[in-house]
Amino acid sequence: MFIRERAGIATFERLVEQGLKSDVLVRMGQLEQRYRKTCPECEKEFWVGPELIDRNWLNGKPMAYRCPHENCSGVAPIGEQEHKPTLDEELRQK
Ligand SMILES: [Zn+2]
Repeated sequence: MFIRERAGIATFERLVEQGLKSDVLVRMGQLEQRYRKTCPECEKEFWVGPELIDRNWLNGKPMAYRCPHENCSGVAPIGEQEHKPTLDEELRQK
């Protein structure tokens, strides 16, 4: 266990040296894009969370995020571009 951890740290440090750092920042930017929504009604930005998900009552699929701001009933739809391909779909694309 200890050895595996050391190896993991060494790998991580090497990746950082190779410039992964900037990649991490890019990824974080993408995360922000994905998890920050602008309410169409009050036009305020909010971070999405599982408690804000509005699900389709038929199939349980997340459909939109409810605006968390007080006195606002806006919902920000979950866009198509945010569809995360499943492993199966990713393999098919290659
Ligand atoms: Zn709102």
